[in-house]
Amino acid sequence: MKQHNFGAGPGILPQEVIQESANAVLNFNNSGLSILEISHRSKGYEAVMEEARSLVRELLNVPPTHEVLFLHGGASTQFAMVPWNLLKQKAGYIESGVWAQKAIHEAKMLGEVEIVASSSDKNFSYVPTNYQIPSDIDYLHVTSNNTIYGTQMKFFPATTVPLVCDMSSDIFSRPIDVSQFGLIYAGAQKNMGPAGATLVIVQKDLLGKTGRKINSMLDYNVHIKAESMYNTPPAFPVYVCMLTLQWLKKMGGVAAIEQKNIEKANLFYEALDRNPLFVGNVVKEDRSLMNACFNLKDPAMESRFLQTCEEDGIVGIKGHRLSGGFRASLYNALPIESVQKLIEVMNNFK
Ligand SMILES: *Cc1c(COP(=O)(O)O)cnc(C)c1O
Repeated sequence: MKQHNFGAGPGILPQEVIQESANAVLNFNNSGLSILEISHRSKGYEAVMEEARSLVRELLNVPPTHEVLFLHGGASTQFAMVPWNLLKQKAGYIESGVWAQKAIHEAKMLGEVEIVASSSDKNFSYVPTNYQIPSDIDYLHVTSNNTIYGTQMKFFPATTVPLVCDMSSDIFSRPIDVSQFGLIYAGAQKNMGPAGATLVIVQKDLLGKTGRKINSMLDYNVHIKAESMYNTPPAFPVYVCMLTLQWLKKMGGVAAIEQKNIEKANLFYEALDRNPLFVGNVVKEDRSLMNACFNLKDPAMESRFLQTCEEDGIVGIKGHRLSGGFRASLYNALPIESVQKLIEVMNNFK
């Protein structure tokens, strides 16, 4: 590993996954063909899709009520697909960041949207709590981890309305109870694989109830029936997701990786709080295990700090343009040595 990769997305992948992906590009399963040039209907590739989906089931303990899909289009397509498939009259949204706002924007084109709670008053530096969930909404949409601001939901609201969650940036980082959710979606490129594949886990009996005609590519039921092969799937990204999930299983699964993630995040935040030059951006109890956002107390030193990082092989640390400052993404594949290196560079910075 030549660089310490703190990029927010596409994010770091395990080195062995990169290596194996490279091998498959040259010669997939000793077939004499590249994974890039084989039919998605071939036996070899069908096995890849099947294993990727069954690893999702196994690692997240997905109940039989829920279907696992790999789709195209990123989380942003899910912003639209969710209301297309689930919104009859009115949906509730928790506005906890810009991704949530984009989801709201799409839903508004198809029905009524109630903002059940928002943290926009303080630039999304906290996760809203203590809200009343209306009983007349078709679903409540939440974002488990706000990638741009560095806040994370530590628990999910108990509600009888279906819970829909954008888990793009913390899926597979900790155990979740899938049965608590009507639908979970995640773009792969933060914590699961490369860009191009999108994971959807959906409770089947919620579908087909809007009375709306849905174009095939936007209809979950079409993809369920075709087992994620309605059209040519994002074949290579799904393959890399499969390798990453195999790696995760070998690491002990989500409960084991959560312990590592907690260890890395605690190490970082404790060092941040001890450092007189830096300050965290969000309320402490909502700090994300995945994206740590922070600032220099003196913003005039920002570019010098970024340059120092670069000289020390630390990349991807610049904050999102909407929140500024810095963001250290601590995804599953980031080794603790990279966190130690960043802390060292921050401590030595004058
Ligand atoms: C990155 C991200 C998105 C957007 O994902 P795309 O796959 O680029 O559409 C949506 N939601 C969250 C929480 C994200 O981190």
